[in-house]
Amino acid sequence: MLEPLKVRVAKDAGFCFGVRDAIEKARLVAREHGKVYMLGDIVHNERVVAQLERENVIVVDSLDEVKDAPVLFRAHGTIPEIWEQAASKDLTVVDATCPLVHDIHNEIKKLHAENRKLIIIGDHGHDEVVAIQAQVPQAIVISNIDEAEKLARIKKAGVVSQSTQMIENVQAIIAILSMKIFDLRFVNTVCFPTRRNQGQIQEMAPISDVMIIVGSFTSANTKRLHEVSLSLNPKSYMVEDAAQIKAEWFDNATSVGVSAGASSPDDLIEEVVEHLNNLHVKTLA
Ligand code: SF4
Repeated sequence: MLEPLKVRVAKDAGFCFGVRDAIEKARLVAREHGKVYMLGDIVHNERVVAQLERENVIVVDSLDEVKDAPVLFRAHGTIPEIWEQAASKDLTVVDATCPLVHDIHNEIKKLHAENRKLIIIGDHGHDEVVAIQAQVPQAIVISNIDEAEKLARIKKAGVVSQSTQMIENVQAIIAILSMKIFDLRFVNTVCFPTRRNQGQIQEMAPISDVMIIVGSFTSANTKRLHEVSLSLNPKSYMVEDAAQIKAEWFDNATSVGVSAGASSPDDLIEEVVEHLNNLHVKTLA
C-alpha cells in the first residue's frame, strides 16, 4: 500500500535572526551603493551565496580587493586586526556582527579583566571561534571531552562557548573542567536560537519515524543539529536539497520531522517539505 507521510516542520527551522539580519543588510547596502563586498561567505550555504552574488554582494579574500563600495563584516564576528586594517584603508564598514556574538566578545574580555586563564568551547579554526579568541591574549580552544581531559590543573579560569555548540558537549566539557579548575567561571554563550533549534529537534526526533535535517555539508551548525537528531533517532538524515532525499528511507514510516541549520534559507526548506508532502511511502498493510 502507498500512503502519504505526516510531515512536521520545526517552528524555528532555518535562518537565525543574526544571519537573516546580516543578509538583509548586505542586500540593502548593495542596492544603495550598486555593490557591497564581503570578507568570506556570509553563511555556509552555497545557494545563498550564489543568490547574493547575483544581487552584487561580492565575496573577497582580502581587504585589498575592496574598491568603491562598503565592506560588510559577517554575523559571526571579525578579528580586531581586520577592523584596524579597514580603518587604516579608510574603508566604509557595515558591521553585521550578530549582537549575541558581540556579547560573547564582551564576556571573554570581562573574564580576561578578572585575570583568568581563558577557555573557549568551540570548533578549532571556525571563523566565530577565531574572532572570539582574537579579543583577548592567549585564550585556548577546547572542542571535545578528550581535549578537556588532557588539560592540566588551573587555579583560576573563565570559559565561554561558541554560539552554536551542542549544549550536551558544553555540559560534558564543563563537568570535566570543574574537576580541574579551582576557581571556574563559566558563561554559557550558546545562543538562544541554537538552544531553541536543538530543543525542537529533541522533541521531534523521538516521535518521528524519520528525521530530515536540511543544510549544507559545509555548515558545522547543520552537522551538529544532525548529530542531536541522530542521538535520538537512528533514521536521521542530513540533506542539502530535496533531490538528495531517498524514497527507501521512508519504507513503513508514517511520519517525518524536518529541521534545518541556521544557514539554510526558507525556500530550500519549503522545497524539501513540498517534496516530502508529495511522497507516498510503502507501508506493510
Ligand atoms: S547562530 Fe546565534 S549567535 Fe550566531 S548569528 Fe545566529 S543568532 Fe547570532
